[in-house]
Amino acid sequence: MVDFALTPAQQDIVDQARAIARRCLAPRAAEHDRTAEFPADNFTDLAGSGLLGLLIPESHGGLGADLVAYGLAVAELAEACGSTALIFAMHCGATRLLSASPGQTARDALKDVIRNGKLVAWGFSEPGTGGNVLKPQLRATRTEHGFTLAGTKAFCTGAGHTDYYLVNTASGEAEFRRSQSMFLLPADTVGLTVKETWDAMGMRANCANTVQLDCAVEPSACVGGHGGGLPLLGHALPALVLGLAAASLGIARAAGGFATEHVTRRVHADTGANLAAYQGVRFHIAELTTRLHTAHLSLLHGAATAETDPLEALPAMNLAKYICNSAAIAVADLAMQVTGGQGFLRSNGLERHYRDARAGAVMGANLDVLRDMIGKAALGLDPRS
Ligand SMILES: Cc1cc2nc3c(=O)[nH]c(=O)nc-3n(C[C@H](O)[C@H](O)[C@H](O)COP(=O)(O)OP(=O)(O)OC[C@H]3O[C@@H](n4cnc5c(N)ncnc54)[C@H](O)[C@@H]3O)c2cc1C
Repeated sequence: MVDFALTPAQQDIVDQARAIARRCLAPRAAEHDRTAEFPADNFTDLAGSGLLGLLIPESHGGLGADLVAYGLAVAELAEACGSTALIFAMHCGATRLLSASPGQTARDALKDVIRNGKLVAWGFSEPGTGGNVLKPQLRATRTEHGFTLAGTKAFCTGAGHTDYYLVNTASGEAEFRRSQSMFLLPADTVGLTVKETWDAMGMRANCANTVQLDCAVEPSACVGGHGGGLPLLGHALPALVLGLAAASLGIARAAGGFATEHVTRRVHADTGANLAAYQGVRFHIAELTTRLHTAHLSLLHGAATAETDPLEALPAMNLAKYICNSAAIAVADLAMQVTGGQGFLRSNGLERHYRDARAGAVMGANLDVLRDMIGKAALGLDPRS
C-alpha cells in the first residue's frame, strides 16, 4: 500500500523549512544571485533553526530526519533560493556520511555542526574524471605520520566558505569494496587552497570553486579508515541523489508558480480576457502541472524506497533524479513561454529559476549517465556495470 500522508514529525520539518525559506531565503535570493556571493546570512538562519543537523541522528544531537522529510525540506528551500538549497543538500550528504563513520574525528565535526553551525563541503568531482566519484585521481600516500594528499577537486559547492571538506581518494586496494578512502579536512588545513573559479550562469551563489590539495594529514583524518570509504559513500548517496532531485523540484515549483499566477493576472486590453483564456496557454499549464506532479511523486517514491528497500533504492532514486532534473528544465521553459516578455525580465525572478534549473542535469549522476543506468535496470542488467 502506498501512503502519501506525512507523519507529524515529517510535517514539522517541512513546515520549518518552508517558514525559513519564505521569511529569510526568498527575499534575499535575487541579491545573492546578482552578487554571486555566498549566502552566509541564510546559513546563519538555518543553523539557528537546527536544520544543519537535519540528517544527523538524534543520538549525535541532530534532528534525525528521514529521507522523505529531508527531500521535501530541500524542495522548500530551493523554491526560495536554488543556490542555498544546493549548498544545504551537499552539506547534508556529507553529514550523513560522517554520521556513519566510526571514530572521534567524525563525531567532533558533527558536534561542531550542531553546536556551532559549521558547514561541510562535499568534494568528489575532479577535473580529470568529472563526476565519476568511483574514479578519483586525488592521491593519498601513507607516510610515517599519516597521509599526504595531492590532487584537485572541481566544482566543490561552498568551497572557500565551508568549515570542513570531505574528499574521496582511491585507496589503491585491488578489491572494489576497499577501493576508496574518505578524508575530512578542516578548512584551515595547511596545503588546502581554494581557487575562486565559480562564475556561473546559474546557481550563482553556490560558490562551487576548485580545491587544491597538497597536504600532510594525521591518520585520524581518514574517516572510516584506509580503504573503508565505499560503504560510507553508499550510506551517504541517497542524501545526494535525492537532494539534487529535490532541489530541481523546488526550482520547478517556483517557475510553475510564477507562470500560473502570471497567466491568471495578465489581461489583454483588446479582449479583456486573461492569458488563461487561451486554450494554447492552458495546454502549457497542463503540461507543466503534469511535470510537477510526476516529479513530486517520483521524489516521494525514491525517498520512501531508499528508507525501506535497499535492493530497489538505487533504481528508484535514479528515476527520481532523472524525472526531477528534467522537469526543472521543462517547467522553467514552459513558464518562459507563457509569461512572454515579463518572464524575460530580470526583475521577475523566473529567469533565475530558468538558469538555476540547468544545474541538476549536469550534476552527478548527470542525465546521460542516469539514462544509461535506468535502461540497464529496466533490462535487468547491473546498473553499476
Ligand atoms: C552547480 C554545481 C554544483 C556542484 N557541486 C558539486 C559538489 O559540491 N561536489 C562535487 O563533487 N561536485 C559538484 N559539482 C560537479 C558535478 O557533480 C559534476 O561532476 C560536474 O558538473 C561534471 O563536470 P565536467 O565538466 O567534468 O563533466 P564531464 O565529465 O566532462 O561530462 C560532460 C558531459 O558528458 C556526458 N557524459 C559524461 N560522462 C558520461 C558517461 N559516463 N556516460 C554518458 N555521458 C557522459 C554528459 O552529457 C555530461 O554532462 C557541481 C556542479 C555544478 C554545476
